[in-house]
Amino acid sequence: MSSVINEVIDKVKRMDPEQKEFHQAVEEVLSTLEPTVKKHPEFVKANIYERIVEPDRVIMFRVPWLDDKGNVQVNRGFRVQFNNAIGPYKGGLRFHPSVNLGIIKFLGFEQIFKNSLTTLPMGGAKGGSDFDPKGKSDMEVMKFTQSFMRELFRYIGPDCDVPAGDIGVGGREIGFMYGYYKKIRNEHTGVLTGKGLDYGGSLIRPEATGYGAVYFAGEMLATQGKDYNDKICAVSGSGNVAQYTVEKINSLGGKVVTLSDSSGTIVDEKGIDKEKLAFVINLKEVKRGRIKEYAEKYNVKYFEGLRVWDVIREQNLKVDCAFPSATQNEINAKNAEALVKNGCYCISEGANMPSTPDAIKVYQEYNVLYGPGKAANAGGVATSGLEMTQNSMRLSWSREEVDAKLHGIMKSIHKSCLNASEAYGKKGDYVMGANIAGFLKVAKSMLAYGVV
Ligand code: NDP
Repeated sequence: MSSVINEVIDKVKRMDPEQKEFHQAVEEVLSTLEPTVKKHPEFVKANIYERIVEPDRVIMFRVPWLDDKGNVQVNRGFRVQFNNAIGPYKGGLRFHPSVNLGIIKFLGFEQIFKNSLTTLPMGGAKGGSDFDPKGKSDMEVMKFTQSFMRELFRYIGPDCDVPAGDIGVGGREIGFMYGYYKKIRNEHTGVLTGKGLDYGGSLIRPEATGYGAVYFAGEMLATQGKDYNDKICAVSGSGNVAQYTVEKINSLGGKVVTLSDSSGTIVDEKGIDKEKLAFVINLKEVKRGRIKEYAEKYNVKYFEGLRVWDVIREQNLKVDCAFPSATQNEINAKNAEALVKNGCYCISEGANMPSTPDAIKVYQEYNVLYGPGKAANAGGVATSGLEMTQNSMRLSWSREEVDAKLHGIMKSIHKSCLNASEAYGKKGDYVMGANIAGFLKVAKSMLAYGVV
Protein backbone atom coordinates (compact mmCIF):
# COMPACT_ATOMS: atom_id res chain seq x y z
CA MET A 1 0.00 0.00 0.00
CA SER A 2 1.20 3.54 -0.70
CA SER A 3 2.59 5.57 2.17
CA VAL A 4 -0.20 8.12 1.77
CA ILE A 5 -2.91 5.56 2.54
CA ASN A 6 -0.88 3.80 5.24
CA GLU A 7 -0.16 7.03 7.06
CA VAL A 8 -3.85 7.95 7.14
CA ILE A 9 -4.86 4.50 8.45
CA ASP A 10 -2.12 4.67 11.11
CA LYS A 11 -3.20 8.13 12.19
CA VAL A 12 -6.85 7.08 12.54
CA LYS A 13 -5.81 4.16 14.77
CA ARG A 14 -3.42 6.29 16.79
CA MET A 15 -5.86 9.11 17.44
CA ASP A 16 -8.84 7.02 18.51
CA PRO A 17 -7.45 3.63 19.55
CA GLU A 18 -10.72 2.35 21.00
CA GLN A 19 -12.84 2.91 17.84
CA LYS A 20 -12.35 -0.57 16.34
CA GLU A 21 -15.35 -0.59 13.98
CA PHE A 22 -14.32 2.81 12.62
CA HIS A 23 -10.77 1.55 11.97
CA GLN A 24 -12.23 -1.47 10.16
CA ALA A 25 -14.40 0.69 7.91
CA VAL A 26 -11.58 3.15 7.14
CA GLU A 27 -9.13 0.36 6.34
CA GLU A 28 -11.67 -1.41 4.13
CA VAL A 29 -12.35 1.73 2.10
CA LEU A 30 -8.86 3.26 1.93
CA SER A 31 -7.10 0.01 1.05
CA THR A 32 -9.16 -0.18 -2.15
CA LEU A 33 -8.56 3.50 -3.06
CA GLU A 34 -4.90 2.81 -3.83
CA PRO A 35 -5.31 3.15 -7.63
CA THR A 36 -6.82 6.62 -7.17
CA VAL A 37 -3.64 7.80 -5.45
CA LYS A 38 -1.66 7.17 -8.65
CA LYS A 39 -4.33 8.41 -11.03
CA HIS A 40 -5.20 11.59 -9.10
CA PRO A 41 -2.10 13.31 -7.68
CA GLU A 42 -4.31 16.35 -7.14
CA PHE A 43 -6.17 14.43 -4.38
CA VAL A 44 -2.87 13.72 -2.63
CA LYS A 45 -1.75 17.34 -2.95
CA ALA A 46 -5.01 18.58 -1.41
CA ASN A 47 -4.72 15.92 1.33
CA ILE A 48 -8.18 14.57 0.52
CA TYR A 49 -7.46 11.13 2.04
CA GLU A 50 -6.65 12.55 5.45
CA ARG A 51 -9.50 15.04 5.34
CA ILE A 52 -12.18 12.52 4.37
CA VAL A 53 -11.66 10.35 7.48
CA GLU A 54 -12.23 13.29 9.84
CA PRO A 55 -15.93 14.10 10.48
CA ASP A 56 -17.11 17.66 9.82
CA ARG A 57 -18.44 17.56 13.38
CA VAL A 58 -19.33 15.18 16.20
CA ILE A 59 -22.27 15.99 18.45
CA MET A 60 -22.75 14.12 21.75
CA PHE A 61 -25.41 14.87 24.31
CA ARG A 62 -27.21 13.75 27.45
CA VAL A 63 -30.70 12.25 27.03
CA PRO A 64 -32.57 12.22 30.36
CA TRP A 65 -36.07 10.68 30.50
CA LEU A 66 -38.63 9.36 33.00
CA ASP A 67 -39.48 5.64 32.97
CA ASP A 68 -42.94 4.27 33.81
CA LYS A 69 -42.04 4.01 37.51
CA GLY A 70 -41.10 7.68 37.64
CA ASN A 71 -37.34 7.02 37.83
CA VAL A 72 -34.97 9.33 35.95
CA GLN A 73 -32.96 7.44 33.30
CA VAL A 74 -30.02 8.82 31.31
CA ASN A 75 -28.72 7.74 27.92
CA ARG A 76 -26.13 9.19 25.57
CA GLY A 77 -27.12 10.67 22.20
CA PHE A 78 -24.89 11.01 19.11
CA ARG A 79 -24.96 12.68 15.72
CA VAL A 80 -21.87 12.50 13.54
CA GLN A 81 -22.12 14.88 10.57
CA PHE A 82 -19.36 13.34 8.52
CA ASN A 83 -19.28 14.99 5.12
CA ASN A 84 -21.68 17.26 3.22
CA ALA A 85 -19.61 17.81 0.07
CA ILE A 86 -22.34 16.56 -2.28
CA GLY A 87 -25.54 17.34 -0.36
CA PRO A 88 -27.16 17.78 3.08
CA TYR A 89 -26.06 15.27 5.72
CA LYS A 90 -28.15 12.11 5.52
CA GLY A 91 -28.08 8.86 7.48
CA GLY A 92 -30.05 6.89 10.02
CA LEU A 93 -30.40 6.87 13.79
CA ARG A 94 -29.64 3.63 15.66
CA PHE A 95 -31.04 2.85 19.13
CA HIS A 96 -29.19 -0.16 20.56
CA PRO A 97 -27.26 -0.76 23.79
CA SER A 98 -24.05 -1.41 21.81
CA VAL A 99 -24.04 2.10 20.30
CA ASN A 100 -20.89 4.14 20.94
CA LEU A 101 -18.93 6.81 19.10
CA GLY A 102 -16.79 4.29 17.15
CA ILE A 103 -19.88 2.52 15.78
CA ILE A 104 -21.60 5.76 14.81
CA LYS A 105 -18.40 6.99 13.10
CA PHE A 106 -18.06 3.73 11.12
CA LEU A 107 -21.67 3.99 9.98
CA GLY A 108 -21.35 7.70 9.12
CA PHE A 109 -18.14 7.10 7.16
CA GLU A 110 -19.70 4.27 5.12
CA GLN A 111 -22.72 6.49 4.51
CA ILE A 112 -20.60 9.09 2.61
CA PHE A 113 -19.75 6.61 -0.14
CA LYS A 114 -23.11 4.85 -0.13
CA ASN A 115 -25.00 8.10 -0.56
CA SER A 116 -22.68 9.18 -3.34
CA LEU A 117 -23.31 5.89 -5.16
CA THR A 118 -27.07 6.48 -5.21
CA THR A 119 -26.47 9.41 -7.64
CA LEU A 120 -28.65 11.59 -5.37
CA PRO A 121 -27.30 14.75 -3.68
CA MET A 122 -26.81 13.49 -0.11
CA GLY A 123 -23.87 13.81 2.27
CA GLY A 124 -22.96 11.25 4.94
CA ALA A 125 -24.02 11.21 8.61
CA LYS A 126 -25.23 8.81 11.30
CA GLY A 127 -26.54 9.07 14.82
CA GLY A 128 -28.31 7.28 17.61
CA SER A 129 -28.18 6.31 21.24
CA ASP A 130 -27.31 3.45 23.57
CA PHE A 131 -31.01 3.38 24.54
CA ASP A 132 -32.51 -0.13 24.23
CA PRO A 133 -36.13 -0.04 22.99
CA LYS A 134 -36.54 -3.76 23.81
CA GLY A 135 -38.86 -4.28 26.75
CA LYS A 136 -39.83 -0.59 26.97
CA SER A 137 -43.46 0.54 26.89
CA ASP A 138 -44.73 2.81 24.10
CA MET A 139 -44.88 5.61 26.69
CA GLU A 140 -41.23 5.12 27.65
CA VAL A 141 -40.16 5.07 24.00
CA MET A 142 -42.11 8.30 23.44
CA LYS A 143 -40.52 10.01 26.43
CA PHE A 144 -37.04 8.95 25.39
CA THR A 145 -37.43 9.95 21.72
CA GLN A 146 -38.88 13.34 22.72
CA SER A 147 -35.93 14.01 25.00
CA PHE A 148 -33.54 12.88 22.23
CA MET A 149 -35.17 15.30 19.77
CA ARG A 150 -35.23 18.10 22.35
CA GLU A 151 -31.45 18.30 21.81
CA LEU A 152 -31.02 17.00 18.26
CA PHE A 153 -33.41 19.56 16.72
CA ARG A 154 -30.76 22.31 16.93
CA TYR A 155 -28.44 20.52 14.55
CA ILE A 156 -30.79 19.20 11.84
CA GLY A 157 -33.02 20.67 9.13
CA PRO A 158 -34.35 19.81 5.65
CA ASP A 159 -31.41 21.51 3.90
CA CYS A 160 -28.82 20.73 6.58
CA ASP A 161 -29.18 17.22 8.00
CA VAL A 162 -32.01 14.73 7.46
CA PRO A 163 -31.91 11.66 9.77
CA ALA A 164 -33.84 8.40 9.19
CA GLY A 165 -34.25 5.00 10.90
CA ASP A 166 -31.81 2.14 11.49
CA ILE A 167 -31.64 -0.66 14.08
CA GLY A 168 -34.25 0.01 16.78
CA VAL A 169 -35.69 3.02 14.96
CA GLY A 170 -38.76 2.23 12.87
CA GLY A 171 -42.09 3.87 12.11
CA ARG A 172 -43.09 4.29 15.76
CA GLU A 173 -39.86 6.08 16.75
CA ILE A 174 -39.79 8.29 13.63
CA GLY A 175 -43.43 9.26 14.32
CA PHE A 176 -42.63 10.36 17.88
CA MET A 177 -39.49 12.25 16.82
CA TYR A 178 -41.13 13.98 13.87
CA GLY A 179 -44.14 14.98 15.99
CA TYR A 180 -41.86 16.54 18.57
CA TYR A 181 -39.68 18.35 16.02
CA LYS A 182 -42.81 19.76 14.38
CA LYS A 183 -44.07 20.95 17.75
CA ILE A 184 -40.92 22.75 18.88
CA ARG A 185 -39.96 24.22 15.48
CA ASN A 186 -43.52 24.94 14.33
CA GLU A 187 -42.53 23.62 10.91
CA HIS A 188 -43.83 20.78 8.74
CA THR A 189 -40.80 19.98 6.60
CA GLY A 190 -38.87 16.99 5.28
CA VAL A 191 -36.49 16.89 8.26
CA LEU A 192 -36.76 13.12 8.81
CA THR A 193 -37.37 10.29 6.36
CA GLY A 194 -39.16 7.02 6.97
CA LYS A 195 -42.22 9.03 8.02
CA GLY A 196 -45.74 7.56 8.01
CA LEU A 197 -47.66 7.81 4.73
CA ASP A 198 -50.28 10.09 6.26
CA TYR A 199 -47.78 12.79 7.19
CA GLY A 200 -45.22 13.00 4.39
CA GLY A 201 -43.69 9.53 4.11
CA SER A 202 -42.96 7.81 0.82
CA LEU A 203 -44.51 4.62 -0.44
CA ILE A 204 -41.90 1.82 -0.63
CA ARG A 205 -39.56 3.44 1.97
CA PRO A 206 -40.13 0.65 4.53
CA GLU A 207 -39.53 -1.96 1.83
CA ALA A 208 -36.65 -0.18 0.10
CA THR A 209 -33.51 -1.54 1.80
CA GLY A 210 -34.64 -5.16 1.54
CA TYR A 211 -36.01 -4.82 -1.99
CA GLY A 212 -32.82 -2.99 -3.02
CA ALA A 213 -30.53 -5.73 -1.67
CA VAL A 214 -32.52 -8.29 -3.65
CA TYR A 215 -32.43 -6.16 -6.82
CA PHE A 216 -28.67 -5.73 -6.42
CA ALA A 217 -28.12 -9.48 -6.07
CA GLY A 218 -30.41 -9.99 -9.09
CA GLU A 219 -28.05 -7.82 -11.15
CA MET A 220 -25.01 -9.75 -9.90
CA LEU A 221 -26.70 -13.09 -10.68
CA ALA A 222 -27.60 -11.86 -14.18
CA THR A 223 -23.90 -11.34 -14.98
CA GLN A 224 -23.66 -15.15 -14.73
CA GLY A 225 -26.95 -15.82 -16.55
CA LYS A 226 -28.72 -16.80 -13.29
CA ASP A 227 -31.97 -15.65 -11.63
CA TYR A 228 -33.92 -16.29 -8.39
CA ASN A 229 -36.05 -19.17 -9.64
CA ASP A 230 -35.98 -22.00 -7.07
CA LYS A 231 -32.90 -20.53 -5.38
CA ILE A 232 -32.55 -21.28 -1.68
CA CYS A 233 -31.73 -18.13 0.28
CA ALA A 234 -30.52 -17.49 3.82
CA VAL A 235 -31.58 -14.22 5.46
CA SER A 236 -30.44 -13.12 8.94
CA GLY A 237 -32.26 -10.73 11.26
CA SER A 238 -36.05 -10.39 11.31
CA GLY A 239 -36.39 -6.61 11.38
CA ASN A 240 -37.17 -4.10 8.69
CA VAL A 241 -34.47 -5.09 6.19
CA ALA A 242 -34.91 -8.86 6.64
CA GLN A 243 -38.70 -8.74 6.31
CA TYR A 244 -38.75 -7.03 2.92
CA THR A 245 -35.79 -9.04 1.66
CA VAL A 246 -37.93 -12.15 2.23
CA GLU A 247 -40.95 -10.56 0.53
CA LYS A 248 -39.02 -9.64 -2.62
CA ILE A 249 -37.16 -12.97 -2.88
CA ASN A 250 -40.53 -14.78 -2.65
CA SER A 251 -42.03 -12.63 -5.39
CA LEU A 252 -39.09 -13.43 -7.70
CA GLY A 253 -39.41 -17.20 -7.26
CA GLY A 254 -36.78 -17.88 -4.58
CA LYS A 255 -37.22 -19.62 -1.22
CA VAL A 256 -36.03 -18.19 2.13
CA VAL A 257 -35.21 -20.79 4.79
CA THR A 258 -33.78 -18.82 7.73
CA LEU A 259 -34.46 -15.80 9.96
CA SER A 260 -32.99 -14.76 13.30
CA ASP A 261 -32.95 -12.23 16.11
CA SER A 262 -30.39 -11.55 18.80
CA SER A 263 -31.65 -14.59 20.74
CA GLY A 264 -31.45 -17.27 18.05
CA THR A 265 -32.19 -18.61 14.56
CA ILE A 266 -35.07 -20.50 12.95
CA VAL A 267 -34.71 -22.81 9.95
CA ASP A 268 -37.81 -23.50 7.87
CA GLU A 269 -36.84 -25.72 4.96
CA LYS A 270 -40.31 -25.47 3.41
CA GLY A 271 -39.73 -21.74 2.99
CA ILE A 272 -41.03 -18.60 4.71
CA ASP A 273 -44.03 -17.92 2.48
CA LYS A 274 -46.39 -14.93 2.38
CA GLU A 275 -48.56 -16.08 5.28
CA LYS A 276 -45.57 -16.92 7.50
CA LEU A 277 -43.96 -13.57 6.65
CA ALA A 278 -47.14 -11.76 7.71
CA PHE A 279 -46.81 -13.60 11.05
CA VAL A 280 -43.18 -12.39 11.37
CA ILE A 281 -44.09 -8.77 10.58
CA ASN A 282 -46.87 -8.80 13.16
CA LEU A 283 -44.62 -10.57 15.68
CA LYS A 284 -41.83 -8.00 15.30
CA GLU A 285 -43.67 -4.75 14.56
CA VAL A 286 -46.83 -5.14 16.68
CA LYS A 287 -46.30 -7.78 19.36
CA ARG A 288 -42.56 -7.02 19.62
CA GLY A 289 -41.95 -10.72 20.35
CA ARG A 290 -39.07 -13.13 19.71
CA ILE A 291 -38.35 -15.20 16.57
CA LYS A 292 -38.56 -18.36 18.73
CA GLU A 293 -42.35 -17.95 18.57
CA TYR A 294 -42.16 -18.67 14.81
CA ALA A 295 -40.62 -22.06 15.55
CA GLU A 296 -43.37 -22.80 18.07
CA LYS A 297 -46.14 -21.78 15.65
CA TYR A 298 -44.85 -23.56 12.54
CA ASN A 299 -43.11 -26.47 14.25
CA VAL A 300 -39.67 -25.86 12.76
CA LYS A 301 -36.18 -25.98 14.27
CA TYR A 302 -34.94 -23.17 16.53
CA PHE A 303 -31.30 -22.73 17.53
CA GLU A 304 -30.99 -20.70 20.73
CA GLY A 305 -27.96 -18.41 20.91
CA LEU A 306 -26.76 -19.18 17.37
CA ARG A 307 -26.53 -16.86 14.38
CA VAL A 308 -27.80 -17.93 10.96
CA TRP A 309 -24.19 -18.41 9.80
CA ASP A 310 -23.32 -20.67 12.77
CA VAL A 311 -26.36 -22.80 11.98
CA ILE A 312 -25.43 -23.13 8.29
CA ARG A 313 -21.96 -24.31 9.35
CA GLU A 314 -23.12 -26.68 12.08
CA GLN A 315 -26.04 -28.17 10.15
CA ASN A 316 -24.42 -28.14 6.67
CA LEU A 317 -27.42 -26.27 5.34
CA LYS A 318 -27.30 -25.84 1.54
CA VAL A 319 -27.96 -22.31 0.29
CA ASP A 320 -27.49 -20.54 -3.04
CA CYS A 321 -27.65 -16.91 -1.89
CA ALA A 322 -27.11 -15.13 1.43
CA PHE A 323 -28.54 -11.85 2.69
CA PRO A 324 -26.98 -10.86 6.03
CA SER A 325 -29.50 -8.32 7.37
CA ALA A 326 -28.93 -8.06 11.13
CA THR A 327 -25.75 -6.24 12.23
CA GLN A 328 -22.02 -5.58 11.78
CA ASN A 329 -19.47 -8.41 11.87
CA GLU A 330 -22.08 -11.18 12.00
CA ILE A 331 -20.13 -13.39 9.52
CA ASN A 332 -16.57 -14.38 10.45
CA ALA A 333 -14.06 -16.24 8.27
CA LYS A 334 -14.97 -19.69 9.62
CA ASN A 335 -18.63 -19.19 8.84
CA ALA A 336 -17.86 -17.59 5.46
CA GLU A 337 -15.85 -20.67 4.52
CA ALA A 338 -18.69 -22.97 5.58
CA LEU A 339 -21.22 -20.84 3.71
CA VAL A 340 -19.27 -21.11 0.47
CA LYS A 341 -18.62 -24.83 0.96
CA ASN A 342 -22.37 -25.34 1.42
CA GLY A 343 -22.91 -23.99 -2.09
CA CYS A 344 -23.43 -20.25 -1.63
CA TYR A 345 -22.27 -18.26 -4.68
CA CYS A 346 -23.95 -14.88 -4.09
CA ILE A 347 -23.87 -12.63 -1.00
CA SER A 348 -25.74 -9.33 -0.88
CA GLU A 349 -25.36 -7.33 2.33
CA GLY A 350 -28.58 -5.79 3.65
CA ALA A 351 -26.79 -4.91 6.90
CA ASN A 352 -23.87 -2.50 7.23
CA MET A 353 -20.46 -4.22 7.36
CA PRO A 354 -21.89 -7.65 8.35
CA SER A 355 -18.78 -9.50 7.10
CA THR A 356 -15.44 -9.28 8.89
CA PRO A 357 -12.38 -8.44 6.74
CA ASP A 358 -11.33 -12.12 6.88
CA ALA A 359 -14.76 -13.25 5.73
CA ILE A 360 -14.48 -10.90 2.73
CA LYS A 361 -11.11 -12.45 1.89
CA VAL A 362 -12.84 -15.86 1.79
CA TYR A 363 -15.52 -14.60 -0.63
CA GLN A 364 -12.83 -13.15 -2.87
CA GLU A 365 -10.70 -16.28 -2.75
CA TYR A 366 -13.67 -18.38 -3.91
CA ASN A 367 -14.82 -15.81 -6.49
CA VAL A 368 -18.24 -15.49 -4.93
CA LEU A 369 -20.50 -12.71 -6.22
CA TYR A 370 -20.21 -10.31 -3.30
CA GLY A 371 -22.21 -7.07 -2.98
CA PRO A 372 -20.85 -5.01 -0.05
CA GLY A 373 -23.37 -3.18 2.13
CA LYS A 374 -22.58 0.28 0.92
CA ALA A 375 -23.75 -0.74 -2.57
CA ALA A 376 -26.24 -3.54 -1.86
CA ASN A 377 -28.20 -1.79 0.90
CA ALA A 378 -28.14 1.70 -0.63
CA GLY A 379 -31.78 1.32 -1.74
CA GLY A 380 -32.94 2.46 1.70
CA VAL A 381 -31.20 5.80 1.68
CA ALA A 382 -31.91 6.23 -2.04
CA THR A 383 -35.63 5.98 -1.32
CA SER A 384 -35.16 8.34 1.61
CA GLY A 385 -33.71 10.71 -1.00
CA LEU A 386 -36.88 10.19 -3.06
CA GLU A 387 -38.94 10.97 0.06
CA MET A 388 -37.00 14.25 0.45
CA THR A 389 -37.73 15.13 -3.19
CA GLN A 390 -41.45 14.44 -2.76
CA ASN A 391 -41.51 16.54 0.44
CA SER A 392 -39.79 19.45 -1.33
CA MET A 393 -42.20 19.21 -4.25
CA ARG A 394 -45.13 18.75 -1.85
CA LEU A 395 -46.54 15.79 -3.73
CA SER A 396 -46.34 12.01 -3.54
CA TRP A 397 -45.53 9.41 -6.14
CA SER A 398 -47.35 6.09 -6.58
CA ARG A 399 -45.98 2.78 -5.33
CA GLU A 400 -45.13 1.76 -8.88
CA GLU A 401 -43.29 5.01 -9.59
CA VAL A 402 -41.13 4.77 -6.45
CA ASP A 403 -40.42 1.07 -6.96
CA ALA A 404 -39.40 1.69 -10.59
CA LYS A 405 -37.06 4.51 -9.51
CA LEU A 406 -35.59 2.30 -6.76
CA HIS A 407 -35.02 -0.55 -9.20
CA GLY A 408 -33.41 1.86 -11.68
CA ILE A 409 -31.10 3.25 -8.97
CA MET A 410 -30.00 -0.25 -7.87
CA LYS A 411 -29.22 -1.16 -11.48
CA SER A 412 -27.22 2.02 -11.90
CA ILE A 413 -25.29 1.43 -8.64
CA HIS A 414 -24.46 -2.07 -9.85
CA LYS A 415 -23.27 -0.68 -13.17
CA SER A 416 -21.15 2.07 -11.57
CA CYS A 417 -19.47 -0.50 -9.31
CA LEU A 418 -18.73 -2.82 -12.22
CA ASN A 419 -17.49 0.04 -14.44
CA ALA A 420 -15.23 1.47 -11.73
CA SER A 421 -13.81 -1.97 -10.90
CA GLU A 422 -12.99 -2.45 -14.58
CA ALA A 423 -11.56 1.08 -15.07
CA TYR A 424 -9.25 0.60 -12.08
CA GLY A 425 -8.08 -2.87 -13.08
CA LYS A 426 -10.14 -5.38 -11.02
CA LYS A 427 -13.29 -6.16 -13.00
CA GLY A 428 -16.02 -7.77 -10.88
CA ASP A 429 -14.53 -6.61 -7.56
CA TYR A 430 -17.63 -4.87 -6.22
CA VAL A 431 -15.83 -3.78 -3.03
CA MET A 432 -13.26 -1.80 -4.94
CA GLY A 433 -15.84 -0.63 -7.50
CA ALA A 434 -18.24 0.68 -4.84
CA ASN A 435 -15.52 2.45 -2.87
CA ILE A 436 -13.90 4.13 -5.86
CA ALA A 437 -17.16 5.11 -7.58
CA GLY A 438 -18.50 6.57 -4.32
CA PHE A 439 -15.23 8.30 -3.44
CA LEU A 440 -14.50 10.07 -6.75
CA LYS A 441 -17.57 12.32 -6.70
CA VAL A 442 -17.01 13.36 -3.09
CA ALA A 443 -13.25 13.90 -3.59
CA LYS A 444 -13.77 16.03 -6.70
CA SER A 445 -16.33 18.16 -4.84
CA MET A 446 -13.99 18.62 -1.87
CA LEU A 447 -11.26 19.66 -4.28
CA ALA A 448 -13.56 22.23 -5.90
CA TYR A 449 -14.28 23.87 -2.53
CA GLY A 450 -10.62 24.51 -1.69
CA VAL A 451 -9.50 24.13 1.90
CA VAL A 452 -12.67 24.37 4.00
P1 NDP B 1 -34.21 -3.62 12.92
O1 NDP B 1 -34.01 -3.06 14.27
O2 NDP B 1 -35.53 -3.48 12.26
O3 NDP B 1 -33.83 -5.18 12.91
C1 NDP B 1 -32.57 -5.63 13.29
C2 NDP B 1 -32.58 -7.14 13.34
O4 NDP B 1 -31.26 -7.60 13.55
C3 NDP B 1 -33.41 -7.68 14.49
O5 NDP B 1 -33.92 -8.93 14.14
C4 NDP B 1 -32.38 -7.77 15.62
O6 NDP B 1 -32.71 -8.70 16.63
C5 NDP B 1 -31.16 -8.24 14.84
N1 NDP B 1 -29.95 -7.77 15.53
C6 NDP B 1 -29.62 -6.48 15.82
N2 NDP B 1 -28.45 -6.45 16.48
C7 NDP B 1 -28.05 -7.72 16.61
C8 NDP B 1 -26.92 -8.34 17.18
N3 NDP B 1 -25.95 -7.60 17.78
N4 NDP B 1 -26.80 -9.70 17.11
C9 NDP B 1 -27.77 -10.44 16.50
N5 NDP B 1 -28.88 -9.91 15.94
C10 NDP B 1 -29.00 -8.58 15.99
O7 NDP B 1 -33.04 -2.98 12.01
P2 NDP B 1 -32.95 -2.89 10.44
O8 NDP B 1 -33.57 -4.08 9.81
O9 NDP B 1 -33.37 -1.53 10.03
O10 NDP B 1 -31.36 -2.91 10.24
C11 NDP B 1 -30.62 -4.14 10.03
C12 NDP B 1 -29.27 -3.82 9.40
O11 NDP B 1 -29.48 -3.16 8.14
C13 NDP B 1 -28.37 -2.88 10.21
O12 NDP B 1 -27.02 -3.24 9.99
C14 NDP B 1 -28.64 -1.52 9.57
O13 NDP B 1 -27.56 -0.63 9.75
C15 NDP B 1 -28.76 -1.93 8.10
N6 NDP B 1 -29.45 -0.98 7.25
C16 NDP B 1 -30.75 -0.59 7.53
C17 NDP B 1 -31.38 0.30 6.69
C18 NDP B 1 -32.82 0.66 6.88
O14 NDP B 1 -33.36 1.30 5.97
N7 NDP B 1 -33.47 0.27 7.94
C19 NDP B 1 -30.67 0.92 5.55
C20 NDP B 1 -29.35 0.37 5.30
C21 NDP B 1 -28.78 -0.53 6.15
P3 NDP B 1 -33.31 -8.17 18.04
O15 NDP B 1 -34.67 -7.64 17.70
O16 NDP B 1 -33.31 -9.36 18.92
O17 NDP B 1 -32.36 -7.08 18.50
